[in-house]
Amino acid sequence: GSITVGELAEKLNKETNEIIKKLMFLGVMATKNQDLDEDALELICGEYGVEVEEEVEVDKSDLTNYIAEEDPEKLEERPPVVTIMGHVDHGKTTLLDSIRNTKVTEGEAGGITQHIGAYQIRENDKKVTFLDTPGHAAFTSMRSRGAQITDIAILVVAADDGVMPQTIEAINHAKAAEVPIIVAVNKMDKEGANPDRVMQELTEYQLIPEDWGGDTIFVNLSALKGEGIDDLLEMILLVSEVEELKANADRLADGTVIEAQLDKGRGSVASLLVQNGTLRVGDPIVVGNTFGRVRAMVNDLGKRIKSAGPSTPVEITGLNDVPLAGDRFVVFKDEKQARQIGEMRQEIQLEEKRGSQSRVSLDDLFEQIKQGDIKDINVILKADVQGSVEALAASLQKIDVEGVKVNIIHTGVGAIKESDIILASASNAIVIGFNVRPDNNAKKAAESEKVDIRLHRVIYKAIEEVEAAMKGMLDPEF
Ligand code: GDP
Repeated sequence: GSITVGELAEKLNKETNEIIKKLMFLGVMATKNQDLDEDALELICGEYGVEVEEEVEVDKSDLTNYIAEEDPEKLEERPPVVTIMGHVDHGKTTLLDSIRNTKVTEGEAGGITQHIGAYQIRENDKKVTFLDTPGHAAFTSMRSRGAQITDIAILVVAADDGVMPQTIEAINHAKAAEVPIIVAVNKMDKEGANPDRVMQELTEYQLIPEDWGGDTIFVNLSALKGEGIDDLLEMILLVSEVEELKANADRLADGTVIEAQLDKGRGSVASLLVQNGTLRVGDPIVVGNTFGRVRAMVNDLGKRIKSAGPSTPVEITGLNDVPLAGDRFVVFKDEKQARQIGEMRQEIQLEEKRGSQSRVSLDDLFEQIKQGDIKDINVILKADVQGSVEALAASLQKIDVEGVKVNIIHTGVGAIKESDIILASASNAIVIGFNVRPDNNAKKAAESEKVDIRLHRVIYKAIEEVEAAMKGMLDPEF
């Protein structure tokens, strides 16, 4: 906020000439339309006995500006939010399922697990929340949207396979986010299991077990057989105690979208992680660029609930549009304000869309590389079988055109889903499908999010196409 001599005179209710004279007297030569620097401003205001107060412009569209100040007295312990990361096939999904199966149903008779992007378990009377999307891709795409929701990362390493490329990526992503890591050495039931080798290999990445003088917790387990799960949970609780995770349940809720989609019958359905405060049915809420009122709320067991405190994942309906994973949400006291802010944010989003829509597509990849806009080309890879995923991923990663590389941020077996598109959109990636197609929701999402999907049936053609695009030789397809 700068101010000219003339403007200052007006503010002080003085003649401009008088100010200029005063300034001269203070050794500052200035004309009417000249901006005053801070020192001069301080000096002259000091002369008149008025205080300079910096006018801070508040971005009214920024949701974080509406989060009430924290009362430290009201902070209470909250459950940790855990993400499972690690190399493909090392057992992330099996571990998530195993924890859910052994823990969630205990004492929760009648509950039918509902996939809402996260689930909560109870261990020794304490709760732990697990995010259901394993891997660092989702973790980081959320982070790139400003959402930091993970408190603890579980790094799964298969004892018979050891440290692999995505293990290292996961470590780097967790470290970049300054999230503590617990190492879960998995597949201990297998014949070739060698946990010592895993420990040895991880020392290279500063993950050193306590026995060896470090401070990283290692837990040996078999996700498949459900062995070692309790040890892991205990360690999670231990780390969470050290981290002193706290929140205030006694306030309006805020948090982050874990996932969201359009449901034919129920409209916009969003899974939210409450991070602070308590979310209640009926709350006026702004979620990303959409808004509404919490109409109905269910937990991870599909049970209808009326309120949800810190670290609780819930699925809500009642929004007027579908938000994106990683969007922030904030509850407001009155609906009018929520509506105003929601509409303002929608307008800003529309304007931004009109302005520049710069998603990566293979067709303009070369231009963006030339302009230095991108250094890596992010790819999401879906194929019919795991073998193809791996073969294609390995080949794509070998491509290097003038230092620009292919960065595989997510792979999977099966049709291209809406969640793949959302991930692609959040991380500016293209989606390659090998012997698979996008389902209808994915097609719609790709259209609205302007995500480039490329379908192939021959591996070398997929590779050729990416390589050609990176070299700028791709014939426009349309
Ligand atoms: P992700 O890609 O990391 O999610 O790995 P998955 O959970 O899909 O597991 C990959 C394969 O390893 C599957 O065939 C699992 O059944 C198997 N697996 C996972 N955990 C274990 C384990 O503890 N022991 C054994 N023997 N196999 C496991």
